[in-house]
Formats: sequence, C-alpha cells, structure tokens
Amino acid sequence: MKSEKVIDYFLRGWGEKYKPYPFSLKSKEDRYFFIAKDEEKKYLIVIAPLSNTNNFEGEILGEITIEDKKFTLKRCSLCHLNLALLCKIFPYLNPTFCGLKTSFGTGDRLGKATPAHLQAFNSRDIFPILAQQSVREMERTERNWQSVLNDAIWGVFEYGYIGPFGADADHVKEIADLKESVDCGYSMFTLDPSDFIRKNINQYSKRELNNLYAQIKERKKLEVLYGNKSYSFAGQKLTFTDNYLAEIIFVYSEVLDHIEECYKFLKSYKKNIFDLEISVDETPTVTSPLAHLFIILELQRRGIELQNLALHYLGDWQKGIEYIGDIDQFRKEFSLHSAIARIMGGYKLSLHTGSDKFSVYPIFAQETGGFYHIKTAGTTWLEEVKIVAMKDPALYREIHYFALQNFEKDRASYNLTTDLSNIPDIDKLSDSELPGLLRNKDSRQLIHITYGSILRAKDNEGQYRFKNKILKILFHFEEEHYYEIANWIKKHLDCLNK
Ligand SMILES: [Zn+2]
Repeated sequence: MKSEKVIDYFLRGWGEKYKPYPFSLKSKEDRYFFIAKDEEKKYLIVIAPLSNTNNFEGEILGEITIEDKKFTLKRCSLCHLNLALLCKIFPYLNPTFCGLKTSFGTGDRLGKATPAHLQAFNSRDIFPILAQQSVREMERTERNWQSVLNDAIWGVFEYGYIGPFGADADHVKEIADLKESVDCGYSMFTLDPSDFIRKNINQYSKRELNNLYAQIKERKKLEVLYGNKSYSFAGQKLTFTDNYLAEIIFVYSEVLDHIEECYKFLKSYKKNIFDLEISVDETPTVTSPLAHLFIILELQRRGIELQNLALHYLGDWQKGIEYIGDIDQFRKEFSLHSAIARIMGGYKLSLHTGSDKFSVYPIFAQETGGFYHIKTAGTTWLEEVKIVAMKDPALYREIHYFALQNFEKDRASYNLTTDLSNIPDIDKLSDSELPGLLRNKDSRQLIHITYGSILRAKDNEGQYRFKNKILKILFHFEEEHYYEIANWIKKHLDCLNK
C-alpha cells in the first residue's frame, strides 16, 4: 500500500480533531508512524496491527481498516520511552559523527525550532548540529541533556528528515557532564577548559610569575620541544621566543592536562566515534596565532584527535548582534589562524557566539576553505520573542519590562556594551512597532541575555509567568514561528556563500 494513503484514512476518521504532519509519515513493515496535533499538543500516531503497538505508551483511539486490513490506531505521547522505540526502528533519528564536513549549530533554547532549522538547511551542503546546549544554558532553561536531545529528535521526525545530524554537548567543564551526555546519545562534545586557564597574568610580579612557572611539571620538556623554534605559515614566521613560550606555557599548561583527561575518558567511555571540540573562546584575552599553534601542537603530540577548535578571535563578540571591531584587521589575523589550521591539518576552526555575525561569515567560510563550524543559539530565541511581539503585544510588553528589571543582574556573566537608553520607551510605541524592537541591537541584547530569568520567572502561585504563554503562542502560530526562524537562519547560511 502507498503509505501516503495512511494519512487519508486517518483524516477520514480523525481529521476533525487532529491535524497530521504528512511529511513526518514513516513506515517499517506494516507499521506507520507520524506526528499529529490537536488544539493543545502534539502526538506520535502509531498505526499497526495491535500486537505491534503494545510497546508504545499511549491510548488506543480505535481501529482503522486500510485496504481490507485491520490496524490499531494509537495516540502516543512525545515521551522518552516512545522516542527510544522510534529511534530503534529508524536509526537515522540518532545523532552521528560529523568529522571535517562544514557544519553549523542551531541551539534551540525552547526546543521547538528544529523543523524550522531543518527547513533552513534544506539542500545545502552543511552538516547540521541540531541539538546544542551548554551546561549554563541548561540551568537557565531548566532543561537537561536528555530533554534537549529528545526535543531535537522529535523535530527531526516531525520534519521527516532522514539525517544525518549531530548533537553537541556544549561548553562541558566536568567529566560528570560528559558521562551523562554520552549516556543520552550525544555525538559531539565541546570541552571548555576555561577554569584551567591562568588569567590576569599581569597582576603577578615578575618574581611571583617565576615562582609559579617553576612549579609547572612539564615546563622543561616543553621548553626543549618548542624553545626558539620557528614555524612558517602563509609566508609569516612564528617563533616561540623564551618570553612568549614561558607565558603560553604558564597560561595553557593546565588546560591541556584537563583536556587530555577528558579525552581519555571519552575514548574509554563512548563506544562509538564522536566529534570533539576544544573551545578556548571564553577567555579574557584574544588567542594569539602563537598560542593557537602551541595548543594544536600539544594536542597533536598528546594524541588527542579533535575535529573543531574554537579560539577567542580578534574583536568584540557580543550576543545577538553584529561583529564589533575592525573587520579588515579580523580578516588579516584570521587568515593566519586559517593557515595554521590548514597546515597543521585535521581539524576545523569553530566560531562561537555566531548569531548575527553576518559580516564575519563570508570571511570565515572563505579563509577556512569550508573547514569550519559555527554555533548560533540566541538568535533563534530572539525570533521566537519576535513572534510573541507580533501575536501578543501585551505579553511582549510584560516580558520587556521584566527584562529591564533583570538586566543589570543578568548582564554579569556577559561581555556587553548594551546601552539601555537606546531602547525606545515601549509605552510610547504602538503594538505594531513592537516586533521592530527585535531588530534594535540594544533591545536584542536586553531580551537575549535575560532569557533565563524570563523562562524561569514564576508568579505568586508558583506558575510560570511567561514560559507557558510563550510556548502556547509558538504552538498556535507554528507556521509563522517556523517561517520566521527558517528565514533568519537562511540569512545566516546565505552569508557563508558570499
Ligand atoms: Zn563558546
């Protein structure tokens, strides 16, 4: 039987109550699966001979006869158990290894945007990393490794995508988080060793520095390996002079030890191949080309196989807005980083805080020759709040006031130059002017960095003040929700081909 007919049969019996997602329909032997929604939520619909529906948790809606054969129709919740069964039947629903393919991450703080992201990736030669959340984001959104991944996989199923895609356990600092994310099925691990980076090197006296430096176990070995050695990249010579080398060893030696420990854990614990990203983007200072070289030489010497390396590149990288800095200077310095990556070989350069960095993308794509990974997250959230502003201006106003109240507290963990005085007084704006605020860079940052406070805020009765209302709007206006996000992510991806 043609499987599309299944949707027709379903519509005949249950079409008044449920709206199916025809593209989600998948079949295996005589079992059919697809997503449908009613006024309140989405379900997995299973149509199969009775005994074949037993494992799935849900309620039987009735019997359905398709071409003289009797099937049971079961309405199942989008829960972990049902998803795990589905992933066994359709293995392409599991995230997989990306390797050195061009890749792009679309963090999704509410877990509702994967179908829109897939629409943006459609027919592009980019490997999508659809689940991507950091430990910090998880705390702020009250989600966990499993729920982030499950939401993305349900989105993959809904869209009818048959892979491949990746899942990134982002900015992981502890082995316990690596273990949990491996257990959940993540395919990519981004190690954040920033706690082991020696910061504020200028605060020490020369004597203190010498003392601390003398305590580094491996320093002699590293001095022999790299002392006064020169390397040439794209016609530029980089030399580990004594002073530079001592400083780099001082700043990064513990970082490398930590990475090695995490890597050894992953190698022994994760049964199949995985992507490894090392991120030193959240450091107080820009990563110099020499530091980049040192890091990669050491990673390679220690036998650590990585796919991505995220550096702190020149310029001011702020959340949810364009690059701030001299773009020509950036290109100059970045081309040296790219040359190092190309010649040292075997890994891609990764860009974090990639939301809305439209001017940087063409440079990133060209200089690396396609060997890059980019991460975005906040930009999807901002599009979602824009939908709220479009569909429920009163709710947007409440969120906006709330964000203003929380801004000072929430900005502490970010590097920002937001000037709240540039945000118009919303009491003087008409409803139709509200969505435009999401194109003003100061109000973008206002909404961007307060997302955790907005999503966790509760009223006197202990109910969420905004979260469920936001989700409801996105559910009811799903077409617009997907459309706006897909367009905005496409705008990002288009810049990579310029
Ligand atoms: Zn980062």
